[in-house]
Amino acid sequence: MSNAENIKCLIIGSGPAGYTAAIYAARAEMKPVLYQGMQPGGQLTTTNEVENFPGYPEGISGPEMMVQLEAQAKRFETDVRYGFITKVDFSDANNLLAWTEDGHEIKADTVIISTGASAKYLGLPSEQKYLEMGGGVSACAVCDGFFYRGQETIIVGAGDSACEEAHYLSKLCTKVTMLVRKDDFRASKIMADRVKNTPNIEILFNTETLEVLGDDQGVTGALVKNNQTGEEKTIPATGFFVAIGHKPNTDIFKDYIDLDETGYIKYAKPGTSLTNVPGVFVAGDAADKNYRQAITAAGTGCMAALDAERYLAAKGH
Ligand code: NDP
Repeated sequence: MSNAENIKCLIIGSGPAGYTAAIYAARAEMKPVLYQGMQPGGQLTTTNEVENFPGYPEGISGPEMMVQLEAQAKRFETDVRYGFITKVDFSDANNLLAWTEDGHEIKADTVIISTGASAKYLGLPSEQKYLEMGGGVSACAVCDGFFYRGQETIIVGAGDSACEEAHYLSKLCTKVTMLVRKDDFRASKIMADRVKNTPNIEILFNTETLEVLGDDQGVTGALVKNNQTGEEKTIPATGFFVAIGHKPNTDIFKDYIDLDETGYIKYAKPGTSLTNVPGVFVAGDAADKNYRQAITAAGTGCMAALDAERYLAAKGH
């Protein structure tokens, strides 16, 4: 006989999507159990100041916001657990199974996937140093660009995200230097053209970052190298933005849940949170490569909980 713990609603992940799903599911008396995952609080815990989440007129730090969301979820008796889900078996929709890292087995009537996505970084020690310090390295121009208004910034990347973010920064910053490692963009022509036609964006092709430079206060620039000529130079900047893609945290679901070619979960029905497996719903960045905002993640967290509640009601639970 299985020793599985039987629950109504398992929520995997603790960003704004997961906690919002928990608040709604708990208030609907689904007694949700939420596993926080590898990075309790999610991507927002690496953001300094959140100024674009409605309801915080003075702004709030990312970590503090996540503490508040957790407290709100717990107020309605969400069972918030430290730990992560390492394996699932969704082969039988009436028997949705998940296991934690220490082998604890859970059988859930519904599962809400809110595992998010992780921004990719270059991996340079100097980049990680200023990222951890909160001193000028960011993977989100929409979140952090405002802090560099009237200043010079650098952005690395050549995809649609990098172009979109470079253009966003160009409206705030005096100058944006875009570092493209090849001799052309990967982005769509229209996005690349917009960047090329923006006077205060300088594009350096065939250019790689050797080191992010800085002092006690944060970033002061970057040492870069032209990979064709070997020429090295220093570019002054107070903000170093990285836009080289995101990786959705969906690996453990790939045998059961339909993913797109880049690993994002596909909605089974647009405008809902449904996946291809009945009873399994998705919220937040695990299915969103487009908006990636705390507020949109929270919104889809709400949708997932409502869809889960309706699913259970239709089954007579
Ligand atoms: P992409 O994977 O499309 O692009 C990543 C970019 O980062 C590439 O140009 C790549 O360079 C570069 N890169 C990767 N690693 C490094 C590195 N170590 N050093 C320097 N450069 C590096 O990611 P995006 O986030 O831009 O886009 C993801 C998806 O979302 C795409 O399908 C995109 O079209 C879509 N999207 C659409 C938008 C829109 O239409 N409004 C907006 C944003 C995203 P290289 O080219 O040399 O490999």
